Amino acid sequence: MDAETEIELVLDLKADLGEGPIWDAERKRLVFVDIMRGHIHEFDPATGQDQVIDVGRPVGSVALSVRGDWVAAAHGGFYRVNPDSGRIVQMAAVETDSPENRMNDGYVDRAGRFWAGTMSMVKRRRAGSLYRLNPDGTVTRQITGVTTSNGLDWSLDGKLMYYVDTGVNRVDVFDFDEARGDLSGRRPFVHVPALAGKPDGMVVDAEGFIWLALWKGGAVHRYTPGGRLDRVLKLPAQLVTKCAFGGANLEDLYITTARAGLDAEAAARQPMAGGVFRARPGVRGRPASRFAA
Ligand code: CA
Repeated sequence: MDAETEIELVLDLKADLGEGPIWDAERKRLVFVDIMRGHIHEFDPATGQDQVIDVGRPVGSVALSVRGDWVAAAHGGFYRVNPDSGRIVQMAAVETDSPENRMNDGYVDRAGRFWAGTMSMVKRRRAGSLYRLNPDGTVTRQITGVTTSNGLDWSLDGKLMYYVDTGVNRVDVFDFDEARGDLSGRRPFVHVPALAGKPDGMVVDAEGFIWLALWKGGAVHRYTPGGRLDRVLKLPAQLVTKCAFGGANLEDLYITTARAGLDAEAAARQPMAGGVFRARPGVRGRPASRFAA
């Protein structure tokens, strides 16, 4: 447990499914999504301003790009999004033959490839996959048989990729060939006990420890690179989705949450659910990698 670290509500958004926070160090803003509303938010913690771009379809995650625009993993594929004009252009189609699937969480590796996965919107098990959007615009399927493709990030040396399929209550780890972008040797990294909630988004900090959001668990867990539970940050909301380090020194941990699926009683007990929270856990994050083209 970690009773010392204060948790502050920085944006009382009441998002339906707030997700996928990522810190844009150049614009000094937190970019995140409200998935089923098809909204990309750009929140400026210095002013409290929150701008919204409606991409018109469920949007699972967003990546920053080296060009300064965004790449969204949204229903039907990958899209370039201009954060100033809101103009949206499809780059690549994904699973257009499975319209009941949608894109979900994603993250960019150090070589600038954007990895994002899918899940069924009608609760079909093992119907999702994990995709890799390459800098040349091609898409390759990397993992199949996934139920809810969720958080992923890489170890400090780039030799491991951590990956969550929420459907199996596990964080797994792969050996990662960074030069080729290939995965091998999948094995379990952390089993999340049912009482702790379900593993959702994650991020690796500058010490190589893993911060994992617990859906229905009201917490973020920090794990050592060996897979041992190191710290627990408790949130005043049950549906915790993902976190990202931001701020000038990457010392602020921003945490997104959801209200989707809370019944009236639970929603009344959690007035801050769907908000964006911030903690200062005394650890730094790593800058988010940018999509390379
Ligand atoms: Ca998620």
